[in-house]
Amino acid sequence: MTLVKPNGLWLLTLNYNKYKRTYEMQKIFILGILFLIISCSGGQETSQEDEACFSTGSKTYQWTMVTTWPKNFPGLGMGPENFAKYVDEMTCGRMKIKVYGAGEFVPALGVFDAVSQGNVQLGHGASYYWTGKVKSSQFFTAVPFGLTAQEMNGWLHYGGGMELWEEAYEPFNLIPLAGGNSGVQMAGWFKREINSLSDLKGLKMRIPGLAGEVFTRAGAETVTLPGNEIFLSLQQGVVDAAEWVGPYNDLTFGFHQVSDYYYYPGWHEPGSTLEIIINKTAFETLPDDLKAIIKYAAKSANQEMLDEYTARNNKALTELIEKHNVDLRKLPDSVLSELKSITDEVMQDFIADDPMAQKVYKSYTEFKEEVVNYHRISEKAYIDTREID
Ligand code: CA
Repeated sequence: MTLVKPNGLWLLTLNYNKYKRTYEMQKIFILGILFLIISCSGGQETSQEDEACFSTGSKTYQWTMVTTWPKNFPGLGMGPENFAKYVDEMTCGRMKIKVYGAGEFVPALGVFDAVSQGNVQLGHGASYYWTGKVKSSQFFTAVPFGLTAQEMNGWLHYGGGMELWEEAYEPFNLIPLAGGNSGVQMAGWFKREINSLSDLKGLKMRIPGLAGEVFTRAGAETVTLPGNEIFLSLQQGVVDAAEWVGPYNDLTFGFHQVSDYYYYPGWHEPGSTLEIIINKTAFETLPDDLKAIIKYAAKSANQEMLDEYTARNNKALTELIEKHNVDLRKLPDSVLSELKSITDEVMQDFIADDPMAQKVYKSYTEFKEEVVNYHRISEKAYIDTREID
């Protein structure tokens, strides 16, 4: 048996006289030859196609994405940038998305309306900014003492969460997708120490969503401000406390220059999901491959953001403490316990007059009970175990 390579193809030749020509051997021989020829010619075709892009279609798309974040802001602001990059790469440039930071095209808190009304095709933000329009949207970002990032992704993609989110945004002609996650946030920056719940009385704090209502009931005055207005508001005394995200993002904004105490844990935002919203009418004009690419690009950007925070938060925290002498504090357990009780009351009132919010709350809490039950003996038990001396 010898191998020869005529015209670039490997072929097998046999000296038949050396072997018995049984029927089975002939069959094996012929199949072997066919396999080699198909493999070789197939390989040649693939190598030619490797040179080209597989994305098909000649029509190109130029879409606009508005965001609630400063342009290119580390972490949060990279969600939309990564998404646009992935879409560009996967469509071989057939679809270009121009990303605008907060205030460049529309104000930060004007993103929902701009996409809903079709002024732009895409938006990136946090759904809980829109609780005034869609009460249930609170659950798709985070609720106090709720799901972590890992658990949110489980609920959204395998626990019925996405279907409910789509239903909630349907009246606004919007399709939502998860587009990033911050992981567990920090409780925030305070100009005064918090030793008991009474220290919250009269406190003016930037804290959005349901947690803002919890703080209000605890005696604070709360406001929702976009990220780019927090620093000035702290500096000028418009607020005397603010929560934003966590060390990696908070360092960038420089909150340590205008407040003394940095409190944890982020009881109010244990794993905030960020959103990509798509104008449904615009989405329906797309060919199927671009529709699929948009969904997978979002999923990728969703995970990418969490990875970045996981990798960078501790370095930023170390810099805040060692270089900027930030006073890191844990909220006392007694305060957290009282905040938890208030959260339960606030939650019941929050959903009372809104059937959709009740429906989402039911799904969310049922999923939470199950996942907490398992995470008690898996994630939590392991993290506790890792701390054992
Ligand atoms: Ca936050």
